[in-house]
Amino acid sequence: MPNRTIELDGLHAELRTCRRCLEEGYWIAPGPVFSSGPAPRVMLIGQAPGPTEAVVKRPFNAGSGKRLFKWLTEAGWDEAEFRATAYMTAVTKCYPGRSSNGKGDRVATPFEQALCRPWLEQELWLANPQLLILVGGLAIKLLYLPTTRLDAIIGTAAWFPPEVVASDPWTFDLAQAEMISAMDDPATDGADLSSVVRRHAGGRFVVPLPHPSGASLWPNKPENQALIRRAIALLREIRIAKQL
Ligand code: SF4
Repeated sequence: MPNRTIELDGLHAELRTCRRCLEEGYWIAPGPVFSSGPAPRVMLIGQAPGPTEAVVKRPFNAGSGKRLFKWLTEAGWDEAEFRATAYMTAVTKCYPGRSSNGKGDRVATPFEQALCRPWLEQELWLANPQLLILVGGLAIKLLYLPTTRLDAIIGTAAWFPPEVVASDPWTFDLAQAEMISAMDDPATDGADLSSVVRRHAGGRFVVPLPHPSGASLWPNKPENQALIRRAIALLREIRIAKQL
């Protein structure tokens, strides 16, 4: 049987040398940013590292990380343990620099995303996680249509049955997934949510989260904070049910 840890180590050694975007003429700070436990069961995919992450080579190291780990802590994870055991990566793994208008960081072009996609496919194939957390628009678009509104999906999970994941660990076909919603108030309906999650044994849950950057206003609106609380309630139940 293949050793997943050794295969991931081999992939990471190769990935660290990647300069594809530079070779295609894009400005990036070379040196991909990702982290992984030896046998991850949870995978988190963000958009791209920021300038701090590019220096220390630690995903979600700065302000976005504070808010992200506040959410994950509310779902029951300890930050240090999460970082040590989960797989943390991004749609594009090198810092793409500042945007030309000076507001925030540049969003990697679709071509750069395509250049980086084979790495993401191999990461997902080898990690084969039971829970996949998609953080921010670029990651969410891996599964959902570009026109999908955040308020339609934050607080929901897509569950892929075991046979779908077994036949294709790189599966992002919503038609093969069952949608689970935490649209009832988790404070009063936690028991029901728990039993719904527990009925979905095996397979893979995919949970979208908004981008936790302070530059994003979406998470600050009260109605959206309620959706985020629902997403956290779902993550908590999945974590407990799958012992993640
Ligand atoms: S962003 Fe991805 S494809 Fe581009 S250089 Fe970095 S690791 Fe390679």
